[in-house]
Amino acid sequence: MNTSKYQEELIATAKAIVAPGKGILAADESTGTIGSRFQKINLENIEENRRAYRELLIGTEGDVTKFIGGVILYEETLYQKMADGTPFATVLKNKGIHIGIKVDKGVTPIPNTDGETSTQGLDGLGDRCKKYYEAGARFAKWRAVLKIDVAKNLPSNLSILENAHTLARYAAICQENGLVPIVEPEILMDGDHSIEDSARITEKVLAAVFKALNDHNVLLEGALLKPNMVLAGTGYTGEKPTAKKIGELTVRTLQRTVPPALPGVVFLSGGQTEIEATQNLNAMNVVPNRPWSLSFSYGRALQASVISTWKGDAANVEGARKVYLHRAKCNSLAQLGKYEGEEASASASESLYVKDYKY
Ligand code: 13P
Repeated sequence: MNTSKYQEELIATAKAIVAPGKGILAADESTGTIGSRFQKINLENIEENRRAYRELLIGTEGDVTKFIGGVILYEETLYQKMADGTPFATVLKNKGIHIGIKVDKGVTPIPNTDGETSTQGLDGLGDRCKKYYEAGARFAKWRAVLKIDVAKNLPSNLSILENAHTLARYAAICQENGLVPIVEPEILMDGDHSIEDSARITEKVLAAVFKALNDHNVLLEGALLKPNMVLAGTGYTGEKPTAKKIGELTVRTLQRTVPPALPGVVFLSGGQTEIEATQNLNAMNVVPNRPWSLSFSYGRALQASVISTWKGDAANVEGARKVYLHRAKCNSLAQLGKYEGEEASASASESLYVKDYKY
C-alpha cells in the first residue's frame, strides 16, 4: 500500500504535466554536460553563463505555457534568479509550469559486469526531496542507463534488476516526500542492433521496472515513465526504420508493459535530431490504443538549435527564444498527433548523438 500523504497532489501534478499538448523541457544538464554544450559556441562554463542561459529558457513568455507543463532543473538552477532578482522558481510557478529536479548523482560501474552501470543517489534522498519540495519542486528525475549488445547478451539480467530496483526505491522515496517521480530507464542508442532487438529488450526492461514499482508500492497514477523510443542502434547497417515503424513498435512495447493507470510517458530524445524526435513522437500519437498521454521530455532535441542561435550573446536572446517556442510548438503538435512537418533548418537536422552519453 502506498502511504504518501501527498497522493492527491501527486496524481494532480502528474496529470497536469502531460495535459493535452504539453510536455517537459529537460534543462537539468549537470555542470559538466552543459559545459560541453557551451564549448560548441565557445562559451566559458561559469555560473553566470549557466544562469544567463537558463534565464533565456525560463523567461520565455507567450505560448510556452500551452506547450510546456514542466521544466526539469539541475540543483544549482533551482536556487538561481533572473537578472532582476526574481527566483527562477517563482517565474515558473507564476506561469503554471511545474518545477522538476534531477535527483540522481550519475552512474557507477556494477562490479563483475561488462561495463554496465547502476545509478547513485539513494543515500539521503528523502532529505533532499523535502528540501526541493520546500523550494517549489513538484517532480523529480532519476536516469538509469542500460546498454544493448546482442552478441554479449546485454543488458544482463543483473543490470536490469539492479536498475529496476533502484528506480523503484527512488520513486517510492519521491512520492513519500511529495515529488512525482519520473522513472527513466534509458536504453542507449549505441550499438548495431536492429529495431526489433530494441523492441524486445525495451519490453524486458520495462516489464522489470513495472514489477519493481509494484513491489515498492509506487502509486502509478502519481508517476511518469521516461523511456527511450524503440529505434535501431546508431551502428545498425540495415535499412533505416521509418517513423511509422518506430511509432508502431514503441507503442506496442508500451501496450505490453505499461499499465493504463500511469498518466503519461514522456520520451527522452537520446541523440535523435530535433526533427526525428518530433516526427517519431507524432507517429506514436496516431497509433490506436494509447491509454496514456505520450509526450516529450527532451533535452537535446529541444535545445540544440536554441543554444546555437543564442551563442552566449545577449543580443540573440529573443531570436533564441523564438527557436525554443517553435520546437516546443512542433512537439506539442506531435503530442496531439497533429504535426505535419516543417522546413528543416540545418541545426534541426543535425545529429545530436553522443557515444556513451553521460548526462
Ligand atoms: P535527451 O533528450 O537529450 O536525451 O535528454 C533527456 C534527459 O533528460 C536525459 O536524462
